[in-house]
Formats: sequence, C-alpha cells, structure tokens
Amino acid sequence: GLADNIQSFKACDLEITVCQTHKPKPDTAGLTFGTMFTDHMLTIEWSAHSGWQRPRIQPFGNLSIHPACSALHYAVQLFEGMKAYRGPDNRVRLFRPDLNMNRMLKSAHRACLPGFDRAELLECIRRLVEVDQDWVPHSDSASLYIRPTFLGTEPSLGVKRPSQALLFVILSPVGSYFSTGAKPVALWADCKYIRAWRGGTGDCKMGGNYGASIFAQYEAVDYGCQQVLWLYGDDHQITEVGTMNLFLYWTNEKGEEELATPPLDGIILPGITRQSILELALEWREFKVCERYLTMSDLRQALRDNRVKEMFGSGTACVVSPVGRVLYMGENLRIPCPPQNSLASRLLTELTDIQYGRTQSEWSFLV
Ligand code: PMP
Repeated sequence: GLADNIQSFKACDLEITVCQTHKPKPDTAGLTFGTMFTDHMLTIEWSAHSGWQRPRIQPFGNLSIHPACSALHYAVQLFEGMKAYRGPDNRVRLFRPDLNMNRMLKSAHRACLPGFDRAELLECIRRLVEVDQDWVPHSDSASLYIRPTFLGTEPSLGVKRPSQALLFVILSPVGSYFSTGAKPVALWADCKYIRAWRGGTGDCKMGGNYGASIFAQYEAVDYGCQQVLWLYGDDHQITEVGTMNLFLYWTNEKGEEELATPPLDGIILPGITRQSILELALEWREFKVCERYLTMSDLRQALRDNRVKEMFGSGTACVVSPVGRVLYMGENLRIPCPPQNSLASRLLTELTDIQYGRTQSEWSFLV
C-alpha cells in the first residue's frame, strides 16, 4: 500500500557539503523556465541490498549514471514540481508541500520505486532550500522552482523492478512561466493524440507522460495555439491543458452557476492548485463547485447559449491561466475573458497572497 515504509532515509542523517564558490544570481526578469540552477542539490541513494543511504546536500553537478540505467531505457522515472516564495516579510514559504510528497509517493509506488517517509523528504527539501535561500528571488512574481526527481538506476537491461534508485532534488529560479504573461492562451483540441488513458499513468507525475506529449505540443504551435487541450474518448471529453488542470465557470445545463473541473478518474494529474481552487471556491459558498465530466459538445452548446463565463487552466507554474480560444476540429471557439473582476483573477490573487505570505494560511509551510 501507500503507507510510508518503515525503512526510510532520515533528515537528521543529512550530510551537508557546501560550495567553495557561488554562482552569480540571475535577473529573473528575462529568465527562461528551468535553465538556471542553484549552487546545491540533494541526493539520496537506495539499493535493495543496503536500503536507503544517508541523504546528502552537495554542490550542484553532473550525475554519473550506468549506461544500462532503467530510467534511461524504460522511463522508470518520476518527478514533482513545487515552488519556494519570498514574502514581503523576507521569509521563505512553500505551498502545501505535503500534497506534493503524497503525490510523489503515489508515483513511486506506480513506478515500482521504493517508498520513503514523506515528512523526512520534506525536511530534507526544507534544508536544501535553506542552504540556497539567497536564490529565492526578492520579487512577488518570481520564485524558486523545486524539482524532486526519482530514478530507477538498475544497471541492467531486464524489464523489472529496479534494485537501485536515486532520488534527487534540484532548484531553479523562475520568473513568469508563459511568454504571453497573463494574456489568455489559445488551445488546440484534437482527438489525434491522447495524453493518458484508463489504467495508464496519467494520474502519476512520470516523465514518460511528458516526453510523449512534446510532439503534440509542437503541432499545437503550428496551428497558432500555445497549448494542447487533451481530449479523451469518443465523446471528446475535456481532460487537461498542457501541464495544467482545467476549469469551466459557466451556467450548467440545469441553469445553475457552476465551477466545474473533470473528476480524478485516473487519466488526470491530481493538481495541488486544482485541489486548492476547489477547496477555496467551496468555502465561498457563492456558486456550485463540481467535479464532473465535460465534453466538447457540452462546451460548444454552452458557447452557443452564451452560458460560458470563463475557462482557465490551473497549475504551479502559472497558478491560473485564462483560456481565450479553443481550436477544435478546424473551428475557432471564442471563450469569454472578462477584463475585470474575473473569477480567474480573484483566484490568482487569493492563491498568490497565500503563497507569498501576504495572507496567513494553514497552507503555508515556512522554510
Ligand atoms: N496537469 C499536469 C499534466 C501537470 O503536469 C501539472 C503540473 N504538475 C498539473 C496538471 C497541475 O498540477 P499542480 O497544480 O500540482 O502544479
């Protein structure tokens, strides 16, 4: 099951080797996502024979990997994505990192990688961010992206459960994610490619899901769109957008004002932003909040009836990203984007206020 293995590394065993020289900190304004890394990284090795080794924080550098490594051959690999934010009080916070740890353990289970104690990993990550805390941008639009990664490092070509593994965490200062900024994105919706399927790995953050999506992403760009709207099934169910979950704010078929997002039925990545938006909106008690199936024909009919208020993606990278247009089977569907007082901008404000520590919240985790 998913219960933490009794066998885990412990944060109190951390071995820390600090750098002799420090890289200059970049100006985050013109920074491309994930291209620059901090001075240190966390590495933790595991083997079936000796179990987990002591976690280490060491200078950032290349890994040495056996050419038969199972991550390289069979994509026995998974990752997480979270951020550290610096507040106006100069303190550094993470946003609901326990949920990232839960999701990571679930992915590890699906990838046949060993379990670990989630609280111990979170404490190791906290220590890493503390060591590199000067890299957390002094900005309310930039942050330090945290990339936990877990590889099968089995040094043999058998397709089997790895007997060796490497968990590591690297840090990358990031600015705003999309080149279009907060401008609405255009989505390419076509049933030609499928991101995930029932019984597959779409609900786990495994690298193979992402590598296989790049081809479709470029086709979306060829069609003048920024992201793929992933459809599923003969009824063209709406699932996710690129690397975001999707929300539709509309008047539903019964005439009720509703915020809807597809249910977690195994083909959708359970986003932490998605969960937070659902929880916030439920608390407001201003309209119906619902996890339900949405098809392209539901969307088209609602657009014809003028029942669509907004559509937006949600994720750690951009928090919320309004959708302005969907290109579906050669037809451009215009999605309303209220210039003022939109639900998307309200959620953006509420969530970033918590993330940057401008609002007190139990979702904040101090580094
Ligand atoms: N869907 C996919 C496919 C993703 O990769 C991500 C990014 N992790 C999300 C949704 C959004 O998840 P989160 O809110 O946890 O960033």
